Amino acid sequence: MVDQPVTLTMLPVIQNWDCHVCGSCCKEYEVRLSEKEAKRVSELSKNMGPELGYLQPLRYSGWLTRVAFLNHTSDGACVFLGQGGRCKLHEKHGYDSKPLPCRLFPWVLVPRGDKWTVGIRFACPSAAENKGRPIPAHTPELEEFASELVVREGLNRGADGTWAKAPSLDGKMKSTWDHFEVVRQILLDGIEESPTLEQGIFRAVHWISSMKAGTGMDKLDIKQFGDLAKILWNQTVLEAEKEYAGAPEKADSLSLLLFRQCAAIHTRKDHGPKQGIARRGPLARFLAIIRFSVGKGPVPRLHGWVPEADFAKAEEQGINWSAGCEEILRRYYLVKINSGQFAGSVHYRMSVWDGFASLVLTFPIICWITRLAEAGSQRDTLVRAISIVDDHFGFNRVLGGMTQRVFLAILLNSGRLGKLVRWYGPGRG
Ligand code: SF4
Repeated sequence: MVDQPVTLTMLPVIQNWDCHVCGSCCKEYEVRLSEKEAKRVSELSKNMGPELGYLQPLRYSGWLTRVAFLNHTSDGACVFLGQGGRCKLHEKHGYDSKPLPCRLFPWVLVPRGDKWTVGIRFACPSAAENKGRPIPAHTPELEEFASELVVREGLNRGADGTWAKAPSLDGKMKSTWDHFEVVRQILLDGIEESPTLEQGIFRAVHWISSMKAGTGMDKLDIKQFGDLAKILWNQTVLEAEKEYAGAPEKADSLSLLLFRQCAAIHTRKDHGPKQGIARRGPLARFLAIIRFSVGKGPVPRLHGWVPEADFAKAEEQGINWSAGCEEILRRYYLVKINSGQFAGSVHYRMSVWDGFASLVLTFPIICWITRLAEAGSQRDTLVRAISIVDDHFGFNRVLGGMTQRVFLAILLNSGRLGKLVRWYGPGRG
């Protein structure tokens, strides 16, 4: 336990969750263990040979530093996963015997100033479908998790009492958690007040472009910064609406090329039951990269849940967007913004503007996947698309790499990101 209490800030949005024992997380993820956890799991599994099919409970990876992971069976599932999605460690030794990452999923604990905020991964089907108790009902266990996480990761409060450094707004400016709070609140209010989610996101892209272009922000005190940010938002709304009044422009070839590369990364699944064409080997993966570059013919099914369709379908077919679709996706973005899980230490150490742009990019990708489905099944595909994409958001290291950052900068700085939002968004029909 920690010597100072860990305080949580709950999500004010309506988000529910409970584990429905689907077991999908235990089939899909590689669970990395701390040294202490590895020792404990080894001890606890000493007499579990027959239950584990005589497989080793752990496997190790790395040359210089050996990192322990939970071992997997030949079908990719965790070695402890039993009948009906039940965990054998849990069944035999109690809930607390499970490693922290197992208990923590799908929660994301995000340090913000001297508190922690609670986010949730929509990669979990129950989170995407909003099934279970409201998040505040989980407060006691979340507080426990936050305390354990602090110890597990060896975190300490800074001299100012904060758990992590505030992310810089632009990667250069020395920013504070107050700056982050101003940005978070404007994005939340702006998106909530927009007639549709697509319009809200479109406005937000314009706004971050104006804020990014602004100079001398570091000379302002926090009140002046907040006032300027609001003035720019109001101006942005007017400008964005003028552009929004026209028909959406077809994305140009450079946008499509970059977009498809990003879509490929966000839809890749190389292990677990939803594994895509990775099961066919490296040649199939290489051909898929080429196909994504050309953008013609059948979309390579990098993930088992991506609908079977041609690239042309997403460009031509309309989207069947019900109020239910709007609610699900709106909830997804409000949760991400509210929790702050789009910048800083929990998101590839990205600046606030770049991290938010990376969140915006998920919108056209989710809509693109949904457009590939038959009109009658687009709502179900949307839920799956959120789950596919959110599996990567903040957790796939490739997305934090230099190439992705360059792609993102090109799309944002050239105004192409906003155009992609409109082109694949539901507003085009
Ligand atoms: S240890 Fe249990 S909870 Fe963790 S991945 Fe394995 S089966 Fe799932």
